[in-house]
Amino acid sequence: MVNLLRRHPVAIGLVVLLLVTAIHPLPPLVDAVTGSAPGDADLERPVLYVLFAPLSDTLDALTFFSMSRAVWTLVVWTLVLAAFGAVRASSDSLSARRVIATALLGPLGVVLLGVAALVMPRPVPRLVSDGPGTVLDYHAHTRASHDGRPGWTLADLADWHERQGFEAAYVTDHNVVYDGSLPAPPGRSISLLPGVEWSLYRQHVVAIGPIEPLSRDSFGGSTLRMVRVFNAIERQGALSIASLPEYWRNHQEELSAFVLAGVDGFEIVNCAPKALAFPSDLRRQVIALAGRHDLMVVGASDNHGWGQVTCVWNVSQPGSQGFHTNRVFARPLALVQGDWQPWTAPATQPWFMLRSLSWSERVSWLTWVVVILLYRALPRREGQSAGLGILARSLWGGRRRRQSAPHQTPT
Ligand SMILES: [Zn+2]
Repeated sequence: MVNLLRRHPVAIGLVVLLLVTAIHPLPPLVDAVTGSAPGDADLERPVLYVLFAPLSDTLDALTFFSMSRAVWTLVVWTLVLAAFGAVRASSDSLSARRVIATALLGPLGVVLLGVAALVMPRPVPRLVSDGPGTVLDYHAHTRASHDGRPGWTLADLADWHERQGFEAAYVTDHNVVYDGSLPAPPGRSISLLPGVEWSLYRQHVVAIGPIEPLSRDSFGGSTLRMVRVFNAIERQGALSIASLPEYWRNHQEELSAFVLAGVDGFEIVNCAPKALAFPSDLRRQVIALAGRHDLMVVGASDNHGWGQVTCVWNVSQPGSQGFHTNRVFARPLALVQGDWQPWTAPATQPWFMLRSLSWSERVSWLTWVVVILLYRALPRREGQSAGLGILARSLWGGRRRRQSAPHQTPT
């Protein structure tokens, strides 16, 4: 066993982590208002998603990163993997060029995973809800937004949402009204609902329902002028939702002015990297404020065409108002982003990812570790017996590592 640990420390460490994180697992979904796992909604994972769980979960975990935590993880993991590769290569007495090439492999892997998380099509989990109501997204963008992914059409948006169990989504491009009159993409069952995201004085306001264009200049220059937009949106017969991260970053002390001016709701979870750092204690304050004034609290994918998974779903009725009409179900890994210092992310992100695994995913991870362990234990030379025998011998302590112990005679 000691030999196995010495030969495959990463694999054995991973097995230990997979077992330890199973002691206090996180639920697949959390009700963002109550903080507990919902009894009537669950995350359904496709077979291929579970089969390739190590890749699926890693790509999900890379998608649910706040900006600062992503930067820390990228820098630290790049350095650690480069150092690990370099040390291994030099202990194998390779040439300097080979050492550098080996050192670059790890960082290259990190970058490739990041790109894959953004653009690679893959099986994704979907929300299934037993309770009444529609699975809904309040906030998503197309190519009509200046920062939307080029070529990201309404049909792409519809497909992205349908794959994840959404039955309806408001289309809320930046300052471009989607009035719902464009024909629904053929072959999709999802409803795309009218909406817009207004950029006003240091605040983004999502307006949903029967909206019309308005003159943004009338709401610029100060918070007092900006909050008048809530009334203007109401006169159109639409609903207004204050978006993250702006109300938290720029108007934290002025939220009662929002309420007085007639805002209809607040986002409490938004999956955009700059909004995911929203801390839990502030989320609780906003939930309490909304509860006192019977305002909606909602979750927003804020998808711009990048990334394959949402961190949040709503179950509600489109057009309904008030605190109790909407339920917000989020992935726990997204909710912890605001509660841990960015510099801890290289460790805490994998930790919370592993704690979020279902049993089937955990079994998949363990299977992959064993398969790779067996593959690596296979003899490199022709004519030797199968790897199982080698692994068994190393388990019972027959053999030392050939490469790191050159003074030993290889068997
Ligand atoms: Zn947005």
